[in-house]
Amino acid sequence: MGQFLQFRHLLKQWWLTASRDFPWRHHRSPYRTLIAELMLRRTRADQVVPVYERFVNSYPTLAMAAQADPCDIRAILYPLGLSWRIENIIDLLNQAYNRFGEVLPIDIEALLTLPGVGDYVAGAVACFAGGQPVALIDTNVVRVLGRVFGVDIQGEARRRREMHDLTDSALDRDDPVTYQYALLDFAAKVCTAKNPFCNCCPFSQASCCEFYKHFIIDKK
Ligand code: SF4
Repeated sequence: MGQFLQFRHLLKQWWLTASRDFPWRHHRSPYRTLIAELMLRRTRADQVVPVYERFVNSYPTLAMAAQADPCDIRAILYPLGLSWRIENIIDLLNQAYNRFGEVLPIDIEALLTLPGVGDYVAGAVACFAGGQPVALIDTNVVRVLGRVFGVDIQGEARRRREMHDLTDSALDRDDPVTYQYALLDFAAKVCTAKNPFCNCCPFSQASCCEFYKHFIIDKK
């Protein structure tokens, strides 16, 4: 079995019994996915859950959100902190509705024209709402893939060519949504930034994590 095939297989097997459940994973319209991703920037998922639910219950559509009183939106988003992000979301909702109407596109180039939408958020909407095989890169993805495949993750690794090639090769193009959710959950629950749980990790058990081989076993 090739190394990337094995990686995807082990990751998927792990996820079958260890997945996390979030409301934005159930209803993956472009609008709801975009709202969730904007809220998740720099904020823990468990903090986002109640705010996200209140937001989409109050504004089930882009039109309703764009036409809402900004003061009401600020009140809902206030618990997330980061006032610059709140103003960005209000601005983005208005521009998105004026430009695209009721239905947001799942086209990365179009999404990138919206204020505050960068590569990760645009890619996440294309992947989660559109099922497109987009290799998402953030610090969590970099950490897991870098450790497993022995690629340098110091500094601005996510901007380096080597890391882009690696995320591209590891991506499950047949089932990108499951793959990305599994990778996110694995990074949050097992391959954590500090003190990863290597002893109960499928990659250490299968002897296919370079970090484990060189930095954990060698120290024992
Ligand atoms: S063995 Fe440790 S470092 Fe390697 S993927 Fe598992 S948790 Fe991460």
